Amino acid sequence: MNSKALKEQFPILNQEINGHPLVYLDNAATSQKPKAVIDAVKQYYEWENSNVHRGVHTLGSRATEAYEGAREKVARFLHAEDASQIIFTRGTTTALNLVASSYGPAHVGIGDEIVITEMEHHSNLIPWQQLAIRTGATLKYIPMQPDGHIELADVEATITPKTKIVAINYVSNVLGVVNPVKEIAAIAHRNGGIIVIDGAQSTPHMKIDVQELDCDFYAFSGHKMCAPTGIGALYGKKELLEGMEPIEFGGEMINDVGLYESTWKELPWKFEGGTPIIAGAVGLGAAIDFLEGIGMEAVAEHERKLANYAMERLAGIEGLTLYGPKKREVGLITFNLEDVHPHDVATVLDSYGIAVRAGHHCCQPLMRWLKATATARASFYLYNTEEDIDRLVDGLIQTKEYFG
Ligand code: PMP
Repeated sequence: MNSKALKEQFPILNQEINGHPLVYLDNAATSQKPKAVIDAVKQYYEWENSNVHRGVHTLGSRATEAYEGAREKVARFLHAEDASQIIFTRGTTTALNLVASSYGPAHVGIGDEIVITEMEHHSNLIPWQQLAIRTGATLKYIPMQPDGHIELADVEATITPKTKIVAINYVSNVLGVVNPVKEIAAIAHRNGGIIVIDGAQSTPHMKIDVQELDCDFYAFSGHKMCAPTGIGALYGKKELLEGMEPIEFGGEMINDVGLYESTWKELPWKFEGGTPIIAGAVGLGAAIDFLEGIGMEAVAEHERKLANYAMERLAGIEGLTLYGPKKREVGLITFNLEDVHPHDVATVLDSYGIAVRAGHHCCQPLMRWLKATATARASFYLYNTEEDIDRLVDGLIQTKEYFG
């Protein structure tokens, strides 16, 4: 994979920040967008824009084709059985809340269990916390090993026949661990429960096959995988989605509306009340074409190499704490520099044109588990190079000297 050539396709990356060429290492928060995606959104507004599913006129058909075509692409990308199992949402957060609010109360009651982990992003923690509070269910946490990974023996010991829902991230946005979600799904199923996967940090970086994982629900955000903000999706097994009630009511999602009762459209539209994010879906479709053009195996391999190179180089900086496992599968590294607040680290790095994230990363329980109030995080994507890592290492050495 030629990252330098790929970088050329991302207009925003070719600029200077504070007098230095930009090194963008905040991809876990959001990725940058290639020209192909920007152009697809522009083309949509210049040629196809109209509302979907209702216009009899030509633009209405163009917009509907573009929107539904994007759904087909998402289904293909996730290896879903059928496009009707793809519900467009605003992103991962909305997708997870949809499952928790619709599937949740219908299947979880007093004495039941919901199983999650302490490394969940708030978006995959609070919806289940709320569901537990509202239904009287018990929230249980799978224990984590000192480096943050989880052992299947602990999963077996935590999930019981009372477990109705297991919700877990595929890749942690802080630890960079890849969780054994396929094995966890099998354990959940053996106990009569279902699994919901937070795919926010996995979908952009590796090949996803929801059928092979045998997951019941899978959520992701487009903006972390080259697509615009405001678009993502929920995949669900057909029989589960069919049995669920919508949580948003209004235009677009109805079949017949009476004065006292109404009926809903079939899948996936019963979950898509109101005018959808049409241009966003078009952008997501273009992002998928772009990523498939490179190949997700190539993306994953590139990031694995980059992450392990970064781990090696960062380990050479005295006073730097690295969180998460030593060997990396994905390009995401969280760290702290001794006696320097991560916000200060990020500020100094920014002065050298290097963008990293600092804070709790929407993982307050995990921060407590790590005994850190905050951390800094560098996260890579297909356009990052070893030179970017070298710039990060040099920047951290400068930061140390600055505060030393
Ligand atoms: N889960 C994980 C693991 C994440 O990293 C994020 C984004 N930081 C989310 C969920 C939420 O994604 P979004 O804000 O796009 O809904």
